Amino acid sequence: MKTPVQIAVTGAAGQITYALLFRLAAGDFLGPDQPVVLRLLEVPAAMDSMQGVVMELEDCAFPLLRGVVTTSDPRVAFENADYAFLVGAKPRGEGMERKDLLEVNAQIFSVQGKALNDVAHPDVKVLVVGNPANTNALIAQRNAPRLDPSNFSAMTRLDHNRSVSLLASHCSVPVTDIRRVIIWGNHSSTQYPDIHHAIVGGDRATSRVDRQWYETLFIETVQQRGSAIIKIRGKSSAASAANAALEHMRTWVAGTADGDWVSMVIPSDGSYGIEPGLMFSYPVTIEDGRHRIVQGLDIDDFSRRMLAATEAELKSERDAVAALL
Ligand code: NDP
Repeated sequence: MKTPVQIAVTGAAGQITYALLFRLAAGDFLGPDQPVVLRLLEVPAAMDSMQGVVMELEDCAFPLLRGVVTTSDPRVAFENADYAFLVGAKPRGEGMERKDLLEVNAQIFSVQGKALNDVAHPDVKVLVVGNPANTNALIAQRNAPRLDPSNFSAMTRLDHNRSVSLLASHCSVPVTDIRRVIIWGNHSSTQYPDIHHAIVGGDRATSRVDRQWYETLFIETVQQRGSAIIKIRGKSSAASAANAALEHMRTWVAGTADGDWVSMVIPSDGSYGIEPGLMFSYPVTIEDGRHRIVQGLDIDDFSRRMLAATEAELKSERDAVAALL
């Protein structure tokens, strides 16, 4: 049997993690031969609630689950971590400005970045889910100079999956017929879901859909899907977010399918004119655990404007937390 891998998960008493932890323990991430140890981080006030989740994990008697560590100390949670799912983040409280939200989360993610730097496995792969995810990932990465910046990422996979699903249903094809959609930029309402390069079956997506539908309904539906779910369900999306987090990490490990790519927030290298260093969602292919930005895609004027808008938002988020970079 293989040596267990150490998987750190923050916000372990939250609703996304409630859907994520059981799948990690069941082997949905690394397969049926890979034992895991879950290293769960929560704030002190949520420790009791997290214990309840641990009791449920025990009650599943998962054969692959070789241990659960619970703590409110990031240095314990991230000790020798091979993978870190940073899901916990402070939600916007009443009367809180956007800047306050950025700052309070910047504090949390600078502490976590330092702890990852000091105690995690040198090749740890880090996924930030907690919002504002791109900027939280930037803070964590900048506070971890020992680690390769390319080991830090944030999640736009849920937006990517939403785009795949919406395009498939609009074209009346199964989701498996859809390839090469892209989410560019910030995981926020300025994100740019782009189907200019997407394929539906054997056709270019742009030949299968009406431009008007794409520029208005499609983009807005993907951008606003999270709010639409809150409105109907009364709570934010959790199972789909957990599924996307798992798929993001699984693709990072297993690689992308031939002829396809995924969307992933990673440090910009200047590709497509985006400021280097910003955490920006790009189309990437992955091989041997390393992601590569897809190069050479044509960007028309419409796309150029959309990219500029989401980049501008990311720069303003970064400037608001400059003190912690
Ligand atoms: P959720 O589990 O619903 O969400 C966790 C985070 O994921 C939020 O920041 C949320 O952003 C974000 N998120 C990113 N993408 C999505 C998406 N597509 N759909 C929904 N959420 C998304 O939050 P809970 O409040 O249930 O749980 C958070 C837990 O984190 C709490 O138990 C809290 O105690 C803990 N926490 C831990 C910290 C730590 O470990 N240091 C620090 C702060 C909190 P958004 O709010 O914008 O929806």
